[in-house]
Amino acid sequence: MRITITITIIALAISSSLIAGAIPLIPDLQVTALASELSGESAKRNLEGFSRLHRMRGSRDFRKAAEQVIAELTKYGFDDAHIEQFPADDKIFYGTQRSRPAWEADFAELWELDNSGNPATRMASWDAAPITLAEDSASADVTTDLIDVGSGSSESDYAGKDVKGKIVLAASQANAVQRIAVAKFGAAGIVSYAANQRTAWWKQDETLVRWGHLDTFSGTPTFAFMISLGDARALQALLAKGERIRLHAVVKAGQHPGSYDVATATIPGSDPQLRGEEIVYSCHLDHPRPGANDNASGCATILEVARTLHKLIDEKRIPPPRRTIRFVWPPEVEGTMALLNGKPELAARIKAAIHLDMVGGGPETKTIFHVTRGPASLPSFAYDLAAAIGAFADNQSSQYAMTGSAQWPLVAPEGGRDALRAAFVPLTLGSDHEVYSSSSWGIPAIYLNDWPDRFIHTNADTPSKIDPTKLKRAGFIAAASGLALANATADDAPAIVSMIEEAALHRAAEARAQARDLPAAEASNRLRF
Ligand SMILES: [Zn+2]
Repeated sequence: MRITITITIIALAISSSLIAGAIPLIPDLQVTALASELSGESAKRNLEGFSRLHRMRGSRDFRKAAEQVIAELTKYGFDDAHIEQFPADDKIFYGTQRSRPAWEADFAELWELDNSGNPATRMASWDAAPITLAEDSASADVTTDLIDVGSGSSESDYAGKDVKGKIVLAASQANAVQRIAVAKFGAAGIVSYAANQRTAWWKQDETLVRWGHLDTFSGTPTFAFMISLGDARALQALLAKGERIRLHAVVKAGQHPGSYDVATATIPGSDPQLRGEEIVYSCHLDHPRPGANDNASGCATILEVARTLHKLIDEKRIPPPRRTIRFVWPPEVEGTMALLNGKPELAARIKAAIHLDMVGGGPETKTIFHVTRGPASLPSFAYDLAAAIGAFADNQSSQYAMTGSAQWPLVAPEGGRDALRAAFVPLTLGSDHEVYSSSSWGIPAIYLNDWPDRFIHTNADTPSKIDPTKLKRAGFIAAASGLALANATADDAPAIVSMIEEAALHRAAEARAQARDLPAAEASNRLRF
C-alpha cells in the first residue's frame, strides 16, 4: 500500500511538472505527434533488412544496404535521397585518414580433412556465415597442417614451432597474429578464435564467432578464418594428444580501388536566414552480418526518424524545421572523415550532430542505454537538451512500467514494457560522434548508445535480441532533440537558460563528489567544468 501511495505522489509530481510543457522547446501536441507516429516495428523491419547483409566497406552488400536506405527514403517522399561517393584506394587521404580500398570476397571455405585427405568437416563458410572470414583476407588455396600457437601475438608463442607454410591456430585477433606468424615466420594463414569485446560476459559463451580483421595495409597479405572458442578448444585437445590436423582452405577475395558510399537526404529548412545551417542525424551502416544492434539499430532508427518527421510535416502536425535536417549513413568513422573532409562546404553548415550507434539492445544483451555528452572542451546546450528529453522518456516509461499508465509510455506493440532506465554520462569515445566533436570540426554531437552488449561483433548480434520499444524510445529522444535544435532561436533563450541552470546544478554536485577522490591538482581541474 505504501508503494502505491508513493507511486501516486510521484505520478502527481510528474504530471504537474508537465503543465509547463513535457520537454523543453517542443509543444506537447508535437510530443504526442512524435510519440504516436514513431514505430519501433517499422524501424525493426528495416533493421532486419540490413542484418541480412555483410556490410564491409566498399562491398556489394554495403552498397545494397545503402540502396535499401535510398529506396525507403524515396518511398517516404524524400526527393533528394542519393548516395555520395568518395574514392577509396589506399592512397587518398581524408584529413589524417588514409582511405582503405574496398574489400570483397566471392568464396571461402575451411575444411578439416580425414586421414585419407578427403574433406570431412566444414569449419567455416563465407556463404553460410561471412563473419567466419576475416576482413581483408586474400585469395589462397592451401592444404596444410594446423599448428597451435596459443595467443599468437608475441614471438615467444612460436618458440620451437615451425609454422612456415602451415596454418596457425591463435587466440589473438588476426591482424596481431599476421604481423608475427605470417610476416616473420612465413605461415600460410590463420585460424583465430579471438573473443568478443571484454565485458562481464567475456568468453562465457563458447559458441560465439567474432568479427576478424587483418591489417588492411600489410605487406604480407594472408587469409584468416574465425572460429568459436568451443571449436578451438576441441582442436587444441586433439593437437595436445599429438594428433595431426590437416586443413584445406580456399579463399577467393581481395582488395580493389572502390569508394566510401554515404547515403544521405535532407528535410530543407524553412527559414531563409537559417536554412543554410544543418542538424545532422548520423549512424554507421557498415559492420559484419548480422550486426543487428551494432549498428543496423542506429541506421534503422534514424531512418524511422526521417519517415516520421517527413510524414508529420506533410500532415501539418509539425511545422517544417527552420534549419535544414540532414540524415547520413556512412561507414564508421572513415566514412564520416571522408564526408566532412570531402565536402568542407557541407561540414561548415553543420551546427550539431545526433549520432546513434547501438540503440536497440533488449534484455538478453545485458545493455545499459546511454545518453552521452560531448567533450567538456566543446560546451553546448545540445547535451542538456538530449538529457532532458532522455529523462522525460525515462520518467514516462518508469511510470508506465510501475502503474500501467502514462501519457507518453513510448511502447511499441511488439516490444517490451520495461522502464528505459537510461544512464546520462560524460563523453565516451568509439564512434563517429568523436569525428564531429574533434577540434578539426568542433561540432557538438549528442551520442545515443548501448553498452555493454555481450553479442557485439559476433554471429549472435541478431535481430531476435532487438526490442522495438527501445528503437522507438531512441527514435523519440533523437527526433525531439533534432527538432528542437533545428528550430531554436533567440526567443528560446530563457527556456534554454532555465534548462541549463537546472542541469548545471546536477553537474556541479557530480563534479564535487568526483573531486573528493582526486588528487588536489586534478580535483581543481574537475571543478572547473
Ligand atoms: Zn557501432
